[in-house]
Amino acid sequence: MKRVAIFGASGCGRGVLPLARKQLEADNREYDLVFVDDRPGSELINGHQVLSYEEWLSQPASSQHINIAIANSVIRERLVERCVSDGVQFFQVRASNVVELDDVKIGDGAILCPFVTLTSNIRIGKHFHANIYSYVEHDCVIGDYVTFAPGVKCNGNIHIEDHVYVGSGAVIKQGAPGRPLVIGRGAFVGMGAVVTKSVPPNTTVVGNPARPMEKA
Ligand code: UDP
Repeated sequence: MKRVAIFGASGCGRGVLPLARKQLEADNREYDLVFVDDRPGSELINGHQVLSYEEWLSQPASSQHINIAIANSVIRERLVERCVSDGVQFFQVRASNVVELDDVKIGDGAILCPFVTLTSNIRIGKHFHANIYSYVEHDCVIGDYVTFAPGVKCNGNIHIEDHVYVGSGAVIKQGAPGRPLVIGRGAFVGMGAVVTKSVPPNTTVVGNPARPMEKA
């Protein structure tokens, strides 16, 4: 039996599991699809069992596949390391209406939600989350553990480093060939921000045009 799990039984996981179910239905193999959570609040969510990670791992299986559906990228990385050390494989969750054009490379464990568009010549790292209606335009380079909330507009020639979070509806201005707009590692882009220039690492920017947030 192929055992498949969505790690995280909260908002993100509940949006992702039905996409995985659709993929598995098309696969025609016998499978079992559950939520895994370290704090299972109930036994069943939307008709699927909720197990602790240890319970899930101990079940007999021909193979075990997981997708980490938790928006917080630091938690995501920690759980990925745990799964790697247990030999669990990652799988990509991709809505059936995702548009992907030419020469797009994506690392393990991504989540591509409904209405996501990836155009051409794009590189994306591990465990990327693109929530509903987000897009990535041509020649972008996206690092590991990057998270897009719904409706992110990532235009052409933008580099986004590891662990960046981009809030809902943010617009990032396109860079130029050889002169990308860079969002530095660990930066946080507030919802609705209009980012017109590069953002230093570990900086929160908000507003239009986006500026570093004043410290209170
Ligand atoms: N969680 C977990 N292990 C961890 C951290 C979080 O199982 O080490 C679970 C947590 O119990 C919760 C979910 O991940 O059910 C995160 O839910 P939250 O609403 O915070 O985030 P979202 O679903 O929006 O990403």
